[in-house]
Amino acid sequence: MTRKIAIYGKGGIGKSTTQQNTAAALNYFYGKKIMIHGCDPKADCTRLILGGKPQETVMDTLREEGEEAVTLERVVKTGFGGIKCVESGGPEPGVGCAGRGVITAITLMEEAGAYTPDLDFIFFDVLGDVVCGGFAMPVREGKAQEIYIVASGEMMALYAANNICRGMVKYAEQSGVRLGGIICNSRNVDGEKELLEEFCDKLGTQMIHFIPRDNIVQKAEFNRQTVTQYNPTCNQAMSYKELAGKIIDNDMFVIPKPMTMDEMEDLVVKYGLLD
Ligand code: ADP
Ligand code: MG
Repeated sequence: MTRKIAIYGKGGIGKSTTQQNTAAALNYFYGKKIMIHGCDPKADCTRLILGGKPQETVMDTLREEGEEAVTLERVVKTGFGGIKCVESGGPEPGVGCAGRGVITAITLMEEAGAYTPDLDFIFFDVLGDVVCGGFAMPVREGKAQEIYIVASGEMMALYAANNICRGMVKYAEQSGVRLGGIICNSRNVDGEKELLEEFCDKLGTQMIHFIPRDNIVQKAEFNRQTVTQYNPTCNQAMSYKELAGKIIDNDMFVIPKPMTMDEMEDLVVKYGLLD
């Protein structure tokens, strides 16, 4: 059975970095077969896996050449570890709705048979601070069964994570989608681990893993590689390996209990995030 996982979180928090590094680790250390479907109009969700190979997005191909041109040969590229990569892309800037593009791209990929049953994992990499219908689609229509939210000890990251949970609650009952945990991608904020643990506790979920902040991520990125490909024995690669193992073994899937704005304020004040 393919596990379909959506990764959400505020823009810039490290979703694409975390998701690609985890995918690489799932393949390299555990032999898993993976596909990544990027759902960010920036279309930068798969470049570490593809090592700079040009990627035609689904929406660009659709707009320029029509639906017949959107074939798997055209829009699905294979990168490190045989990981299959597709990018939804977005509308022309200023024209149309980016969320709509996500819906179109996922539907076209389903119809084209991209999500083959031999895959162990499909990752959807989705924006999290835009809570519009399109970006909620992987959750709403049960396209993904598991959600992981990337967050850090910063106020905006926590507000975004809480909002994603609020969105999830609306659809969880009908679509069956569940929160598998929050991944702390560290910003080296004081008391970050404790803060995230308390935050997760309040939401009724787990902090599934704490990823250190490390410059080797940028060094690998400069070479358009994941850390696993760049240096599979370094500490950071071990951290992604650990996260991959925890995802494989995860058995804590919940409908989160979002915090009220007052509770969020209290948490923010307690950990001094307002200064
Ligand atoms: P998102 O997909 O959420 O918008 P990205 O994954 O593109 O965010 O991350 C933004 C930047 O943060 C990346 O260019 C990457 O270099 C950096 N980054 C992410 N995670 C880490 C980390 N654990 N250590 C160091 N740098 C990181
Ligand atoms: Mg991204």
